[in-house]
Amino acid sequence: MLALCVHYFSNRERCQSPACKGTRFCYWHRTALDRVARRDKFVQPPSPAARTGIHFAPLTSPENIRDGVEQLNAALLAKRIDEKRASLVLHGLQIAASLVRRS
Ligand SMILES: [Zn+2]
Repeated sequence: MLALCVHYFSNRERCQSPACKGTRFCYWHRTALDRVARRDKFVQPPSPAARTGIHFAPLTSPENIRDGVEQLNAALLAKRIDEKRASLVLHGLQIAASLVRRS
């Protein structure tokens, strides 16, 4: 007797393809996880700006630097950025502020 694949679709219908020898799934469903893993290798991770919600304008004016500090604080409070990274970004903002003051 021919065994059928044990995969059920979202409409609750069962896959009607024959199961591969020694497995419970048809070829398509047996290899589905491999296809997902291959596809995920090519998916780009979100950019830091997309992940944290911080979008710095060029840090060439006190207003842009203040806006950057506000965005950084908001991201830190919302836990979109960890404390160590926030500390490094804040240090960069301090350097930018000192350079803007000198010019
Ligand atoms: Zn199947």
